[in-house]
Amino acid sequence: MKKLFFTLIIFLPSLATFGKTPLFKVIARSDSHRAVEENVQLKDLISSNSFDGKYFKVVRGKDEDAVRFDASDDLVFKAANVYYHLTKARDYFTNQLKSDYVTNLPKMIIRIEHKNQFSELGHFAHDNLDPQFNNALTVPAGKGLASRNIKPWGIEIWFRPQKKIHISELNANNLQSQEFKVLMRGFRNQIHMQSLQRFLAQSVNILVNGSQGGRGFSLDQVIRTAGSSLIMEFGYQFYDPIAKATSRKNYWLDTAMVPEIIYHEFAHAALSDHLVLSRSTAIIEGMADFFAGQIAGSPKLAKRIKKYNTFNGKNAKRKQDYILQFEMSEYANTDFVFGLLWEMKSILGEKKGESFMFELRKRLTTDGTIRKDLVDGLITTCEESCETPFQDKLSILKALNYRGL
Ligand SMILES: [Zn+2]
Repeated sequence: MKKLFFTLIIFLPSLATFGKTPLFKVIARSDSHRAVEENVQLKDLISSNSFDGKYFKVVRGKDEDAVRFDASDDLVFKAANVYYHLTKARDYFTNQLKSDYVTNLPKMIIRIEHKNQFSELGHFAHDNLDPQFNNALTVPAGKGLASRNIKPWGIEIWFRPQKKIHISELNANNLQSQEFKVLMRGFRNQIHMQSLQRFLAQSVNILVNGSQGGRGFSLDQVIRTAGSSLIMEFGYQFYDPIAKATSRKNYWLDTAMVPEIIYHEFAHAALSDHLVLSRSTAIIEGMADFFAGQIAGSPKLAKRIKKYNTFNGKNAKRKQDYILQFEMSEYANTDFVFGLLWEMKSILGEKKGESFMFELRKRLTTDGTIRKDLVDGLITTCEESCETPFQDKLSILKALNYRGL
């Protein structure tokens, strides 16, 4: 034992000195969920001077080559951060959930600081067409267009640059000069359950294009941009220690720096064997949020969701209750699905609930409805995989009933 200890002491510093496995600064969460910097080693890199790995290649914008280790500090920080958290997310799906689909996913290109919109035919829309900020999205693979020299591409994840928006420009006068929490509450009430990310992206578009209408902000531009406001607020609120200060008047979302957003985006790719990446719906976003929450594994997040699930607001409409309008609206219901799936997990038990939700994706489609497909999916999945189907089904039905379903 003594000898082994001695050997380790000799070897560890020499590895570090040779720089074979350099350490990179990334964002981690403290126990209280604050964003803290941590130095980590990156797994599965195949390049010794750039972020090119076995499963992910991190590039800047439309570049083909990976971001180099000697690029600017800011770019290296971002590239290392997405690489590290994507590796964690991939490990979760391959090791914990034993997903063959994820194990066999082709290597993914990850774009950071990428402003172009997605084009299903052309891969990248024209540079001048509404450049994007403050959001992230996962794009489906495409065949390319040989006649226009556009090569085929695989599933990719895109992280936009951040852009600061002054609070006075958020087009919400009543929110001015209020504290962050109050702002969030106002944001939630005003926008209902639209995600914070969309809210900020939209605000930038209002600034750039002058109006909320027209081509400033359309559904096409936000396909599959991340998640519910629950998980976004959670990632956002604690990202920047200054965010809590009342003096902060600028808002932005640097998606490549928020672990929960990175997990959410990878979850879209991991679930895409059944939940195709066509557009953003309550079911596809709620499922991605669920697994982002699992990967994050944060007791604070669990508490937050629990509070959301049981909170009985003074507003006329409890957002935790199902209302038929949910099915019609594009954005309004992701939190509802997320909260519901989280509750189901606790009914079925932590471990069992997780594999249950992974099975559930087979019974769902991207365009499914909450009232029919999600409810049917939960029941059928239980019939097939619950340990005590009769009892568990009763508990599920009871919970659904309580939610107004
Ligand atoms: Zn999403």
